[in-house]
Amino acid sequence: MKYETSAGGIVICGNAVLLLKKYNGDWVLPKGKVERKETIREAASREVFEETLVKAETIKYLGAIHYVYQAGWAKNEKIYKTVHWFLMKSKVLRCTPLKREGFVDARYVHRDRVMEMVRYPDEQKMIYRALQHYEKNNV
Ligand code: ATP
Repeated sequence: MKYETSAGGIVICGNAVLLLKKYNGDWVLPKGKVERKETIREAASREVFEETLVKAETIKYLGAIHYVYQAGWAKNEKIYKTVHWFLMKSKVLRCTPLKREGFVDARYVHRDRVMEMVRYPDEQKMIYRALQHYEKNNV
């Protein structure tokens, strides 16, 4: 059994949320593994920057999601994964996908369309939480 911890951001700019498109067509949120000697908050903003070149301000911790996936050449290794999510804010709508990680597009998607584009329901849930907080608190 192996455990993995990652962190990522729901980056909001005005009415739009930052998404990345993977080589297989899936739209996902920017995230990545937490390194030793960094906090989950630091990891989240580092990963957002590395994967999209967006310098976002971290506003609030939103919570964690958990899933299990199979890895290894024979898909025989079970990985138990936790991903911590932060609400972030950006002032400009500029973003660039990290091609060498297999991302083919990065885009700010309008809040009305973002839910139907995102691949994973637990990421949708975090986006919903982020938008609620953003709106309620006039971030
Ligand atoms: P990281 O971006 O944290 O470095 P990674 O790119 O190595 O991670 P994941 O994005 O966790 O790996 O993907 C590993 C497997 O888990 C893939 O098969 C992917 O489809 C699946 N997966 C990714 N996110 C989720 C999710 N939110 N719910 C369920 N399965 C997911």
